[in-house]
Parts: sequence; structure tokens; C-alpha cells
Amino acid sequence: MDPTLNQVLMKPEARVGADLAAWLALGGGEGLANAARDPRAIVPLIADADLRGMGGAGFPTHRKWAPVAAGPAGDKYVICNGNEDEPGTFKDRFLLEHTPHAVIEGALIAAVATGANHVVLYVNPHEKQAIAAVGEAVRQWRDLGHLAPVEAAIGGSLSLELVPSSGLYIGGEETAVISTVEGGFPFPRRKPPYPAQSGVHGKPTLVNNTETFAHVPGILRHGAAWYRNLGLGDASGTKLYSLSGDVLRPGLYELPMGTRLDALVFDHGGGLLMGRAFKAVFTGGPSNTLLTKNHLDVALDFESVRARGSRLGTGAMIVVSEGTSIVRKVAEYVDFFSHGSCGQCPPCKGGTYQLTRLLNRIDTGRGVRADLAALENLCGLLPGSGRCGLVDGAVTVVASSLQQFRGEYEALLIG
Ligand code: NAD
Repeated sequence: MDPTLNQVLMKPEARVGADLAAWLALGGGEGLANAARDPRAIVPLIADADLRGMGGAGFPTHRKWAPVAAGPAGDKYVICNGNEDEPGTFKDRFLLEHTPHAVIEGALIAAVATGANHVVLYVNPHEKQAIAAVGEAVRQWRDLGHLAPVEAAIGGSLSLELVPSSGLYIGGEETAVISTVEGGFPFPRRKPPYPAQSGVHGKPTLVNNTETFAHVPGILRHGAAWYRNLGLGDASGTKLYSLSGDVLRPGLYELPMGTRLDALVFDHGGGLLMGRAFKAVFTGGPSNTLLTKNHLDVALDFESVRARGSRLGTGAMIVVSEGTSIVRKVAEYVDFFSHGSCGQCPPCKGGTYQLTRLLNRIDTGRGVRADLAALENLCGLLPGSGRCGLVDGAVTVVASSLQQFRGEYEALLIG
């Protein structure tokens, strides 16, 4: 078994929940103290560590922190996005429940780096244990006087608060996060401007995923080289992979970034249920291009997965075995996206509804050639038609399943 398995973010002894004293006894707080000593060194250190955004895009973290740090003085916001509702993704809730102080310390380090005076923990209210742990953890940072080094570094008072999200899928999109924190409905907005330039109430705002922040205290404590060396090949750090579907041992695995897909599925996940053959994996949440048995050797890092035509996304891997219908799976996921559409953009609301209707007709043995043609037509028409990426994600999974498993669709047609 790999020596770094569950040894950083998911280290068993670090699962202290909301107990701040226990977190500090483990060396928690050292990263923040290092950060407060030299705030201007933080962004270059995060760049040197090559920390990526773990919410799905893998965007270089320092390139979001730098413009917020350089933004005009006055109110600035740091938001930890813990809405997590992508199918197959169950990593952030683990961190928020079991090690909320790592996440909060990471967000506080970001506040020191950017000069932000508002830190918001934005958490999905459906995750009741996560909400309870974060609420208590926030209370302890505030009441026990541990925010003083941050306030000294930013030269003023700091607000640290828990804001429950709406619990809606779309509430995790970063501009919808901003709308919610402002007190509105989670309607996404067009980008640019990016939140780093104009976020909450038009102020510079840093929105990072929960896992991204959880990596930060370790980098500030042990250095960029330590973090880089945790990864395999050119990849840096560790990654939380949410493994589910037709595997013997589904679960959350912290492994070196760049672990191969076959190692995750067979070595860690124990292979497929009932000795079935591997067929495909819905990767990064099911809004990306499917990976098939031709991709089992892919290294699961942002660049390597992209080089093979898909995206790592959140690191969710939903495994499908031979004997499981791809058409049924795709119909289920697109139905999820259809219900998750906020309804602002008619092509998204209507388009995802039509995709679902056509997929269900084909899956239930009522489809004809014209339905398949309509499905393909929509895949050409819909991309780019929404304010956010929801409709694009739905189209990507339909189009990639059509490309790789067209025979399954055709076999279900009745005319
Ligand atoms: P994106 O590519 O638009 O942006 C990525 C990040 O980089 C954003 O925070 C954006 O603000 C920032 N950014 C990009 N260019 C910038 C610039 N020039 N200056 C400053 N900041 C800049 O991606 P996105 O729409 O935010 O996220 C897409 C990903 O989210 C997908 O990969 C998908 O898998 C994932 N996703 C995750 C969940 C979840 O539950 N975690 C849910 C749905 C989708």
C-alpha cells in the first residue's frame, strides 16, 4: 500500500473534529504563524508548491490569490466553498466534519495573503455533521482569541462566519456562491469579471474549494518542496479521490496526485464487483468525457487527464462494469443536471429537459432514429448557451457516451 495513503489530509490522528486545542497540539496553527510573519511570501510559496483548485477546474491557486491581494484596499472576501453536490463527489464533507480546523486555517492563511477582512465558510446544510463541526470550530477560533495574528497581519478586524448555502446544486457555482453570500438566490452570473476582480458587493473575492484550503496549512508548515514531492511524476501534492460505482471497496482515498486510474480502481478499490470487466468511468463528476478501458493507464492529475481528452474535475470516479447500461447512467445524470438548472437561461432549462426526455425514451425502449438524431443535434446546439457551465457539462457526458458507446444507443432503438 502506498505510504502516503491517507497520510496528509485524512491522517487518522488529525481527525480531531471541532476540537481546536487538539488541532493546535498536532502542530496546527504553525502554518498560520509562518504566514503571518511574512504575508508577501505566501502567494509565491503557493505558486512554488503548484497547488491547484480542487473544486474541479484545477486552476493554479496562486493566480486567484494574486489579483485579490493586488486589489484595492477596503473590504475583501475569502470564501471556502463547501456546497459540494456533484454526483459521486464526497470529499469536502469529510474534511469539514473531521478536520474543519485545517480548512479554516487554510482560509485564514488566504486572508493574510490577500489582506481580506471577511472569511466565509459556505457549507451545504444537507451535510448536518459538517455544519455542526464548522459552526463549533468557527466559534472556537473566535472565542479563544486565535484570530489575533490574522488581525495583526491584515491591520484591522476580521469577520469569520459560517454561511449555510441554499443546498441547491447550482449554489456551488462560484458566482452563485457570491449571490448567496450577498443574501440573494443562487443565480450564476457571466464571467468575466472573475470574482477575484468583482465578487461579493463588487469587492475582490477569493472563492476556493474546501479541499484546496485544507492543503494550505501543510504547505506553509513544511514548504513547497515537501508538497510537490507528495505527487507522482510532474504532479504536486495529494488528492482526495471519491471512488464509487461497481467496485468492491468504494470510498474516499487520499493518494498522491497522479495515481493511475488502474491503481485506484484495482489496487485500492479492490477491482470490480463480482469479477466483472471494467467498462468505463464517469470522471470528475459526470460532466466530463467518459474514460474507458483504453484509458486505464492514465495518471489522475489535471494535465494527464486533459491530455487524454477528459478532465480530472473533483477527482470523483464513478466506475461502470460490463453489464451496466451506459445509456441508463447518462439518462440519470442528465436528469440530475436538468433538475439542478436554475432556470435563468432558457437553453439550459429547456435543453437539459429535452436531453433527459430523449435519453429516457431511448433507454426505455421507445426511441427511434429521429430521437438519436435530435440528441446529437442538441449536443451541437447547446454548448455555450448558459451563463455557467451546467448545460455544457450535461452535453459533454451525452456527446462522449455517444462517441464511445454509440452501439448501445443503437441497440435500444425500435425503428
Ligand atoms: P472555470 O474554468 O470557469 O474557472 C476556474 C477558476 O479559475 C474559477 O474560480 C475562476 O474564477 C478562476 N479564474 C479563471 N480565469 C481567471 C482569471 N483570469 N483571473 C482570476 N481568476 C480566474 O471553472 P468553474 O466553472 O469555476 O468550475 C468548473 C469545474 O467545476 C468543473 O471542472 C466541474 O467538474 C466542477 N464542478 C464541481 C462541483 C462540486 O461539487 N465541487 C460541482 C459542479 C462542477
